Amino acid sequence: MIIDLHMHSNVSDGSLPPRELVALAKESGVSLMALTDHDTMAGVPEAAEAARSAGIGFVPGVEISTAWGGQTVHIVGLGLDADDAEAERFFAGASTLRDKRGQRIAEKFEKLYGIRGSYEGALSFAGNRENLSRTHFARWLLREGIVKTYQEAFDRFLRTGRPCFVQTDWPSVAEAVAIIHRTGGLAVIAHPGRYHFDSEWMSDELCRDFRRMGGDAIEVSSGSQSPAADLHFAQVARDLGFLASAGSDWHSPGGTRPAPGHQAPIPDDLTPVWDKLRIGR
Ligand code: AMP
Ligand code: MN
Ligand code: MN
Ligand code: MN
Repeated sequence: MIIDLHMHSNVSDGSLPPRELVALAKESGVSLMALTDHDTMAGVPEAAEAARSAGIGFVPGVEISTAWGGQTVHIVGLGLDADDAEAERFFAGASTLRDKRGQRIAEKFEKLYGIRGSYEGALSFAGNRENLSRTHFARWLLREGIVKTYQEAFDRFLRTGRPCFVQTDWPSVAEAVAIIHRTGGLAVIAHPGRYHFDSEWMSDELCRDFRRMGGDAIEVSSGSQSPAADLHFAQVARDLGFLASAGSDWHSPGGTRPAPGHQAPIPDDLTPVWDKLRIGR
């Protein structure tokens, strides 16, 4: 069974509308999928409906931006109820942070480089101001010819520590876990091997801290971390008693991530997180 519990649509920073993402997942052989857009569940109803028509299992999801150890850490929520009022307030807060951050990024481009119009430019890629992402700035910079590659936009301007990076006061990991549990979901550390902490042991400490908070699972197989990281975090899942999750982190065709469902399989001895999810069909 091909399963993918981490994918993005154009409701956040992916390139396909939810409906087309589901079609691609189906074409790729996926029989159970989750939509996990950044800080919004606005694409879930469309994806759920498309998955029902396509006859594949669907789990509502989200990838929440949080702050931990001086870095942005992504916590995936799976199986949560998008209609909850408190969850709506929580995601509205993240939208406001994204919009304010976008304005500050644009101020930096203008002040430091005389580059005007980046906020409006990024918005034109985002489609709406609810989910404005650094990736939309990167796409605008590429289209304007200010950078030669998408990656250059991050490496020169946007990634942590570069001149147009703006620190964002994301909610804590504990707050994300609380909102996920409140709405009946399971909390998962996304791509634990991808964080750039000051010291290597910090990623393991994040997992221990997450376990103490009642976190449920970690991604032991992710299209956005190395095979070595998959192996390491499979062992962490064994040691700390986490459920195991898996996902491609697919965003767009021609990206660096594997096709939907084509991340590595999880080791047989671990308990998959999907064993504990209610699956809509
Ligand atoms: P945001 O949530 O708006 O801060 O954007 C985060 C997204 O930007 C991630 O999900 C990645 O898709 C992308 N991203 C973050 N850092 C980098 C980087 N160093 N190089 C390329 N893409 C990145
Ligand atoms: Mn992304
Ligand atoms: Mn992520
Ligand atoms: Mn992601």
